Amino acid sequence: MKLTVLGRYGPFPAPGGACSSYLVEAPAVPGKDREHDAKVRLVFDLGAGALSRLLMFCPLTEVDAILLSHLHSDHISDMFVLRYALEQLHKRGVQVPTPLTVIAPSSPEYEFRSLASSGTFNMVRAEDGMKLRFGALSITLHEMFHPVPTFGFDILENDAVTAYAYGEEKPKKRLFYTGDTGMFPGLYSLVKGASVLLADTNLLSHEKTTEFAAHLTAKEAGSLAKRAGVGRLICTHIWGGSPVEENLLLEAKTNFPAAMLAEEGRQYIIE
Ligand SMILES: [Zn+2]
Repeated sequence: MKLTVLGRYGPFPAPGGACSSYLVEAPAVPGKDREHDAKVRLVFDLGAGALSRLLMFCPLTEVDAILLSHLHSDHISDMFVLRYALEQLHKRGVQVPTPLTVIAPSSPEYEFRSLASSGTFNMVRAEDGMKLRFGALSITLHEMFHPVPTFGFDILENDAVTAYAYGEEKPKKRLFYTGDTGMFPGLYSLVKGASVLLADTNLLSHEKTTEFAAHLTAKEAGSLAKRAGVGRLICTHIWGGSPVEENLLLEAKTNFPAAMLAEEGRQYIIE
């Protein structure tokens, strides 16, 4: 599968940047991944500035579904502009997917209802343990630790599922996206063995003033990646600007030297 970082900032974008959003592409049929084979395309979160970025990589006619980790504005604000886009394109005869499937937590209810109100989105209520299948991708939702209901996504490409079942040590082609989360005891076992951990890394250690913080510190993200034995750690949902970004990376590297900051517009092949 291929991950494209559309936006990496939270709770607001750095100049010229965008808030949390990620495009994940995989074969529509498991095992077929030649350049011209059909693809499934999923968007995870669509924060401020992310719609413009999405259009650089994927026309709206090709989006199969949107999965929202939670309903905070820095993860959903461009959903309302996307709604305009779909409505206006539809009126002009463009074959856009309407209603477009959107999987999201049902709380805060006023945000969920607002997204559901026009009928442009087919809103599906996310639940802990929910399993979804899109083309070659199997996705399991896990509740995270954040002030509002938030889900992390365990995303696995199907041919890797088969290899795992036949005794490979751990599945390949597995991306775990945390959404927003603070540290909680069960997180390690959920993330264990992922090929790529795309982790909320919003805080520096000295900014964590309570054990119930709403985000991971960079140090925690690095230690989680190390303990869980993930292949790669991509730090995201970062506070923009210098020297914060450099310090976030330095902290993450203390426990996981190969840690990297998500780069907007960069594509990561997960295999
Ligand atoms: Zn949040």
